[in-house]
Amino acid sequence: MKSTILGFPRIGKKRELKFAVEKFWRGEIDEPELQKVAAHLRREHLLLQKRARIDYLTSNDFSFYDQMLDMSCTLGAIPERYNFKGKEVDLKTYFQMARGDKDVTAMEMTKWFDTNYHYIVPEFSKNQKFSIKSYKYLREYTESKKLLFNTRPVFIGPLTFLLLGKNKFEEESTLVHLDKVLPLYQKIINDLEKEGASWIQFDEPILSLDLKEDEKKALIYSYKQLSSKKGGVKLFLTSYFEDYGQNSKLFPLLEVDAIHFDLCAGTNNLESIKSIDLKEKVVSLGIVDGRNIWRNHLAQSIAKINEVLPSLCNENVWLSTSCSLLHSPYDLNFEKKIDQEIKNWLSFSVQKLEEVSIIKDYFKKGIKSVEQLLRINDYAMRSKKNSLKVNRIEVKEKVSKITGTMLKRKSEFKKRKLTQEKALGLPKFPTTTIGSFPQTKEVRTMRSSFKKGKIPLQEYTNFIREKTQETLKIQEDLGLDVLVHGEFERNDMVEYFGELIEGFAFTINGWVQSYGSRCVKPPIIYGDLKRTSPMTVGWSSYAQSLTKKPVKGMLTGPVTMLKWSFVRNDIPYDQVSKQMALVLRDEVNDLEDAGIKIIQIDEPALKEAMPLKSSKWSEYFNWSIQSFRLCSSGIKDETQIHTHMCYSEFNDIIDNIAALDADVISIETSRSQMELLEAFKNFQYPSGIGPGVYDIHSPRVPTKDEMKELLTKAKEYLNSDQLWVNPDCGLKTRGWKEVTASLYKMVEAAKELREL
Ligand code: GLN
Ligand code: ZN
Repeated sequence: MKSTILGFPRIGKKRELKFAVEKFWRGEIDEPELQKVAAHLRREHLLLQKRARIDYLTSNDFSFYDQMLDMSCTLGAIPERYNFKGKEVDLKTYFQMARGDKDVTAMEMTKWFDTNYHYIVPEFSKNQKFSIKSYKYLREYTESKKLLFNTRPVFIGPLTFLLLGKNKFEEESTLVHLDKVLPLYQKIINDLEKEGASWIQFDEPILSLDLKEDEKKALIYSYKQLSSKKGGVKLFLTSYFEDYGQNSKLFPLLEVDAIHFDLCAGTNNLESIKSIDLKEKVVSLGIVDGRNIWRNHLAQSIAKINEVLPSLCNENVWLSTSCSLLHSPYDLNFEKKIDQEIKNWLSFSVQKLEEVSIIKDYFKKGIKSVEQLLRINDYAMRSKKNSLKVNRIEVKEKVSKITGTMLKRKSEFKKRKLTQEKALGLPKFPTTTIGSFPQTKEVRTMRSSFKKGKIPLQEYTNFIREKTQETLKIQEDLGLDVLVHGEFERNDMVEYFGELIEGFAFTINGWVQSYGSRCVKPPIIYGDLKRTSPMTVGWSSYAQSLTKKPVKGMLTGPVTMLKWSFVRNDIPYDQVSKQMALVLRDEVNDLEDAGIKIIQIDEPALKEAMPLKSSKWSEYFNWSIQSFRLCSSGIKDETQIHTHMCYSEFNDIIDNIAALDADVISIETSRSQMELLEAFKNFQYPSGIGPGVYDIHSPRVPTKDEMKELLTKAKEYLNSDQLWVNPDCGLKTRGWKEVTASLYKMVEAAKELREL
């Protein structure tokens, strides 16, 4: 038996990579300096794993931005607009692809399966040619070899790379490129073999999805090709985030040497292992959850492994994390502030390495070697179950009293629409923003000083008031129609609420990479949820008192609150969601009472929270729609409910979006040229829609004509009285200069549209 992990977080224990990359972007350090930081981190992460006695270490799991983007570079799929002619992709081109700049737009970015990590979508042109344009994999392999580690380089496999990519110009499947990329994959394998690699890991997480027949065939074909020329190297195939389902039938045909099973998210994988003959292959058991923060219940894990061991060959078993630890925070030891009782229930990446090793010890050295550790572990798990911190009777009672009428607005949309039109008096194509305005250094510094107790509450409140005032004034000057307060009091759209709700805990250093240099610090939902007082009413009504125009109240919806948190796993997810919805329902009602006429309940995570397998969708939408409606239905007809979603493709789910019964929805569309609206048109979606007219993930200021063009395109799909005008998402990561310039042009575009 051996131990391994599928990858380690690259950001560093104190987000060193983020800070170095951002300095590089600002021109404060040069490339060698940046490379030095990166090499140092890689070394540190290998040593850490070695110290935790992990047998097989990985390389090429490092990335300056994203592993899919790295794969696009490795295979030379560099879109023409970057005008790249060189031999190897340089960092400038690399970051242009990732983020765009003043001259060129970025590549599309979207969520990685059902996680909050984003990848850069591979983009293929009409006659896309491929050739190796980055030897990062070789450099990182040899670098670790110099440290005396024979690592296992990690790649995105050919099927996942192609199937998650997009053909820019034609409709046909991206698999048309398969025979062009396979020889390059072969070259990669051969290169690494020459350098002495013994194993190569290919991540094919598309195996967690429902695959079409041709995709299955392509998979078998690809690995046949790769294994035929692989020489002495062995191939390790992984998938994660779900079980293999029907795809597990392909294993006997798959010419790989090892297969990984996610035993945490993939509930049926255990059965697959038992029913398929895997004796010829190495089987990797992903027993320690790579994307949650709960301490592993070691006894349960051992029991699970014992269940499958008889059907495996012991020497051919690896114990592993369920997926890459990319999705887990770094080290629990930095958490000096968290409640000790709760801390005792947690485990971050560094601790997870230890858990893998303890489980391996149990099997290799026998129970005696770990008896004490198992006992302590079991005690911690039991203390959680019975803790008064976790269980609140009044919350469970409130959930049990939810009725059907609580899930319905008083009138149907058509009637509400008229009432709202009268109440709000907005122009055609109303302009608005998604909520947040730039969180400048000044704002962040003030907040952190306040949190550290360096400035008193009064001073902090005055400061936020000033910022809110300024922002309202700017919005009025710009001529926006529906204003927002700017969200300056919020560090993060989930954390802000979590801090005001009982049942949430927070870390000080529990960062996880979200996209590029951006990291998030998800709160932890450990217990029953309870609101103790209004959470947003103060700031929203203050902002409303400054203007005659309507100010939107801003809330984060129940699914997003859960999805962007680490959620307790001791009660069903839908129960947690309903608890959350009841908290928000009280808040919505209080906002209405305070005179707020429009309330936006953001659900950017609704789509990413969808189960990967279609067979589980209806159950998911059942409780998630109920949760949204539970929040938003306790109010008068004239109060307008908005919702916002980022990065959503709506084709498969448009009926569920409609079932939310929101009055207006704003969505991300600018990078995909309004293509997303097709779904709304076909469905005859009834309510208001604000398709984002410019990309807020790039610092580039769009032109007025560009936005007008997008809006004109949107008008082809939607009725004029449905259309709202807004950016793709919140503006908190942007600077003021580009924000005002962009919004100015956006308002101009809307005005011109009104005149047509
Ligand atoms: N209201 C939030 C904001 O503007 C929405 C952000 C999001 O959808 N991710 O920041
Ligand atoms: Zn958004």
